[in-house]
Amino acid sequence: MLELSGETNVRSLRTGRGCLYGIGRELGRFVVTTMEIPWQVTRDLIGATPEAVIMVENMELDVIERQIAEAPACDTVLAIGGGQAIDLGKYFSWKRRIRLVTVPTILSVDAFTTPAAGIRQGHRVVYLGSATPDPLVIDYDVIRTAPPDLNIAGVGDLLSIHTASFDWEFAERAGHSEYPFSPEAIVAARSIVTMLEEKASDIRACTDAGLQAIVDGCIKLNTICLPAGHFRVEEGSEHYLFYELEERLQRPFTHGHIVGLGIRLMSRLQGNRADEVAQFMDEVGLRHQPADMAISRADLTASLLNLRSYVESRSDLWYTAVNQSRITPEWVAEAIADLHFES
Ligand SMILES: [Zn+2]
Repeated sequence: MLELSGETNVRSLRTGRGCLYGIGRELGRFVVTTMEIPWQVTRDLIGATPEAVIMVENMELDVIERQIAEAPACDTVLAIGGGQAIDLGKYFSWKRRIRLVTVPTILSVDAFTTPAAGIRQGHRVVYLGSATPDPLVIDYDVIRTAPPDLNIAGVGDLLSIHTASFDWEFAERAGHSEYPFSPEAIVAARSIVTMLEEKASDIRACTDAGLQAIVDGCIKLNTICLPAGHFRVEEGSEHYLFYELEERLQRPFTHGHIVGLGIRLMSRLQGNRADEVAQFMDEVGLRHQPADMAISRADLTASLLNLRSYVESRSDLWYTAVNQSRITPEWVAEAIADLHFES
């Protein structure tokens, strides 16, 4: 098992095909947080019987508090699944002050490397608690049971460094950076994108090396962002287009896919190697076309035309290239001309 140094949110890391096998025998009394499909995939691999299996009902805070209050005494929480099962495990570990072991069964979101749990309070997602996996278990065979395009979606929040870091530099030049500017952070973040480019064919095929590249990228991103206290190198205008679309359309999206669409359009707005980055998304197999998400031409057009006033109406969003943009109907028509829409 690898012990990690430096400031990241993974105390130890175990990777390899079959590395989940028998882990339950090391955990003392443990409970599992999971969902139906990931539990079916892993229950016969962990080699011991948990005190309880806690299924995600929903991520509402009062529901989660009740589930934790009703759970039996235990030494460890073993969180197995995607974002919600992992977040439930993180919150459980923090609340009970017990050891956390996380087993992502899909890489579509990076919940497995961040400390706080995303939990719903009413209509809003809030980030609560703080927990560090010991170990984080990356079993390639288990992760490969998830649909490939959802694992590849994990690239979206790393490739967003391309547009977000540009936005931070842009804000700094305009005298509007909300945080002390760090060229070193940007260089380090861009090295993650370079690493992904080198592993493009492995990522596309979801080989061991490709899956590991996504995990390594997430861990490295945290070593940059957690000490800084913000994710400015990774979150910018590409996310803001997603926020606008989400409010407009009122439905969930696969995070990496919609961020991919944002990267494609905002890199064009920025004049930031848009064709190159679009080509890379195709090469790596990151789905990002409006047709993949059932976004219509009319909705995307309206969203882009509204984007600047949307970001300016939200005081919690950082300064980006959108703040100085002139997004005209002509610009939009050209920017979306080579995108794919349904019918
Ligand atoms: Zn994101």
